[in-house]
Amino acid sequence: MVCRHIKGRGISDPRVLEAMAAVPREAFVGAVQARRAYADGPLPIGEGQTISQPYVVAWMAEAAEVGLGDRVLEVGTGSGYAAAVLGRLADAVYTVERNAVLAQAAAERLRELGCDNVKVRHGDGNQGWSEHAPYDAIVVAAAGPAVPGALRAQLRKGGRLVIPVGGRWATQRLVRERRRESGEITCEELGMVRFVPLVDEVC
Ligand code: SAH
Repeated sequence: MVCRHIKGRGISDPRVLEAMAAVPREAFVGAVQARRAYADGPLPIGEGQTISQPYVVAWMAEAAEVGLGDRVLEVGTGSGYAAAVLGRLADAVYTVERNAVLAQAAAERLRELGCDNVKVRHGDGNQGWSEHAPYDAIVVAAAGPAVPGALRAQLRKGGRLVIPVGGRWATQRLVRERRRESGEITCEELGMVRFVPLVDEVC
């Protein structure tokens, strides 16, 4: 999977490739889906949600320029797969999931797999996780109409925020915002993507 779908599509950061090779994706999907775990597509994880496509997980991790000593915030834990990948790249990962069933399942799974530097919280990720801010990198795995202000506020100077922006049915753009040393925010468009919506309600 790493060779064909990740490296083959242009991901070159050796640390990202190592992390993608090390995290067993089949452990994050149910037994029924396990044989499809290494195809490059999203898969259902229950509660109407999906585990992200491996290429997109790698792309976002590379785009967020996650370094060894970094503190990372992820919004949209889902299965916990992307959080586990980010956990291999960073010092600590804080991930927020709005769906209680998914949050609890992901926390248990990450504990069983020994991903001790990943912490899961049930809540609205639009608000970030202020207790552990500021973050060197913020990765959002659901698409909102705009970049939530609370997330921008929790970004350290020099930090990167990677988020899909766009409507529910519209095309979405993957965007990277960077907080410069001056405090100013700059924004780049990385490409077109398709994510589930970033919603406000917690369930
Ligand atoms: N990164 C995940 C895939 C995430 S799918 C993985 O690797 O498996 C997107 C997730 O974002 C869904 O689980 C959805 O419930 C969650 N989500 C949507 N809006 C949210 C919000 N406001 N706060 C936190 N999580 C949210």
